[in-house]
Amino acid sequence: QKTLHIIGGGMAGSEAAWQAAEAGQPVVIHEMRPAVGTFAHRTGDFAEMVCSNSFRSDDDERNAVGLLHWEMAAAKGLIMEMARAHRLPAGGALAVDRDPFAAAVTARLKAHPLISTSYEEITELPDQGHWIIATGPLTSGALAKSIQTATGADHLAFFDAIAPIVYAESVDMSVAWMQSRYDKGETVEEQTAYMNCPMTKDQYEAFIDALLAAEKTEFHEGETAGYFDGCLPIEVMAERGRETLRFGPMKPVGLTNAHQSDVKAHAVVQLRRDNKLGTLYNIVGFQTKMKYGAQTEVLRMIPGLENASFARLGGIHRNTFINSPTLLDDQMRLKSHPHIRFAGQITGVEGYVESAAMGLLAGRMAAAEMRGDVLPPPPADTAMGALITHITGGAEAKTFQPMNVNFGLFPPIDAKGGRKGRKDRYKAYTDRAKESFTAWLS
Ligand code: FAD
Repeated sequence: QKTLHIIGGGMAGSEAAWQAAEAGQPVVIHEMRPAVGTFAHRTGDFAEMVCSNSFRSDDDERNAVGLLHWEMAAAKGLIMEMARAHRLPAGGALAVDRDPFAAAVTARLKAHPLISTSYEEITELPDQGHWIIATGPLTSGALAKSIQTATGADHLAFFDAIAPIVYAESVDMSVAWMQSRYDKGETVEEQTAYMNCPMTKDQYEAFIDALLAAEKTEFHEGETAGYFDGCLPIEVMAERGRETLRFGPMKPVGLTNAHQSDVKAHAVVQLRRDNKLGTLYNIVGFQTKMKYGAQTEVLRMIPGLENASFARLGGIHRNTFINSPTLLDDQMRLKSHPHIRFAGQITGVEGYVESAAMGLLAGRMAAAEMRGDVLPPPPADTAMGALITHITGGAEAKTFQPMNVNFGLFPPIDAKGGRKGRKDRYKAYTDRAKESFTAWLS
């Protein structure tokens, strides 16, 4: 019988192994720890939570990550079952007792008759067989190099540079306007690619003050190895001079305020469409290490964003990830080497839950393929479907950065009978998703 090989026994690799084995396929997990470590892992256990101990919101009615929990439980996911078995009290969040959780995942995988483990670092992409690469944000250097050789240097990143993303519907368009700089672009799509938020001199100066004063997070020890100056956080640009941003990402040139064509803006913040649905826009060049609370406060000083809701806040982290929209097909296979699938954070999703969910899909898809079947991805109106659709085609490839699950990735709900309140709309998303996911599972 064929064997599925999985590189990496983290969140994604553990779930992929479980799903494939439960579907009847023999699996080998190749894990480099404990012999070869990373700066963030401490143990040799599978599914180690490297930082926070939270799987975030467990609300499956009004929260996208809570919905992902629900879908993973419905698909009999091992990570979700063990997380719930080792839950700690934390209000509406699913907080996890990390060491017993990882020990339990490890024990369940090792006890499975179809799963074996091989403790070794894999340093080269394999040239035949059935493989899933789930080596995560801290993929070892040798394997990363081999992936780069196979995919092209530009298609693997070692750091993310995440600019905050806002829900398009939360931008005040009586202040902001749509225009690409110098009106570049012929099609409606190109012309609606950018939103612009104007600032007066006073607003700009106040914004720079707030940026400089905001609380920042630091890199973890060991995290900066290989970091280069190409994607400076906005606050660092501001530290280099109060005018730096006005000559960089906030330059006001080539734009005319659609609401006040005679007023010249002192600075302009641009937002660029982030997905094909046009529901999400990222703030161009605004990668930042401001703490989350400080970020929302500072960003809401931007005219037009006073009431913005954020699908994702900014950050810069050590994070190995591939350009999935370019490289992967909708079966998570490398188009150029279809015997290799990718799963987890290396595909450009972000977070424990999202990574495990992508492992769940990769494991099921690989198992189906090995028995001569094809498992179609879940529909795009489910949480798993929205994520896989985003990374394998919905996201803009040129500016692709890691993504958390959020309702902006879902096809919009038709608000019949007028605008529904946000809470009702989210409930409508999760109702629709549960029905779709149940149908897909069966
Ligand atoms: P991992 O869980 O990292 O698993 C990858 C596995 O592959 C590891 O066990 C590694 O040892 C192994 N491996 C790597 N290279 C090789 C190789 N060549 N051969 C064999 N094995 C290999 N997410 C959150 O949701 N919350 C947080 O608070 C959070 N904090 C983070 C802090 C840091 C410093 C980092 C780096 C990441 C953080 N993340 C956090 C992201 C988190 O790591 C991922 O969401 C999640 O662990 C990714 O799952 P994964 O399976 O893709 O990768």
